[in-house]
Amino acid sequence: MAYLLWPMAFFYCKIYLMKKYAVIIYGAPGSGKTMQADLLSRKLGILHFDIGHFLEDIFKDENALKDERVSEQKHVFESGGMCDPLWIVSLVSKRFKEIANSGSSLILSGSLRTVLETFGHEKMKGLIDILEEGYGKENIYFYFLDSKPETSIKRNKNRLICSICGRPVLAEAFKTKPVACPICGGELNTRALDKPEIIKKRLLVFHSDTKPVLEELTKRGYKITHIEGERKPYEVEADILKSLNHDKK
Ligand SMILES: [Zn+2]
Repeated sequence: MAYLLWPMAFFYCKIYLMKKYAVIIYGAPGSGKTMQADLLSRKLGILHFDIGHFLEDIFKDENALKDERVSEQKHVFESGGMCDPLWIVSLVSKRFKEIANSGSSLILSGSLRTVLETFGHEKMKGLIDILEEGYGKENIYFYFLDSKPETSIKRNKNRLICSICGRPVLAEAFKTKPVACPICGGELNTRALDKPEIIKKRLLVFHSDTKPVLEELTKRGYKITHIEGERKPYEVEADILKSLNHDKK
């Protein structure tokens, strides 16, 4: 009988290692959450879903913009406001289900931003409900990147985003300002959303709308691990990985 134990232990260990999970990276605009989610998705081989990028793709689609609701939401988004949570839930929950059903683990940046979007209401499930169904509550991990408001403004003002792959490019890592995305060669843009006056509004909106979400998640039994976000991206990434490996045990 004992000769069967090792193969069985290996089998169950493998199942455990393959267990799908979701990681959610929180942080104010400019805290580096998109960069971190991108780095971690490569290292862990999991899917990065950036809701901001997802919405920007919809807003670039001229056919989609024929829908009055979509063009209205585009205006809200570009002025630094919060898009209608119910509209977001209807679009995103479908994607979350598809990703979880495919067996893929998931990392999110800039998601679960309002109480309504996260927890829904009596007639509609929120995004955390959809994630719990897909991944199991015990397999969802939250990290919050701490950063000062002045850092947010400074980082966003200088931020370059690839117009093709949507990745943020750390301009300060280059001796001269990069002219193309080092990954895909796409044109680099500064975003209207990253203008100082818009960032100030986004920071206010972030604090007023996201703080209650974090409080509610804590009440629901989730641990939100704070990570010092004002360091080089690879240092922040190492800290998140260390914490994630510990939490997953
Ligand atoms: Zn690119």
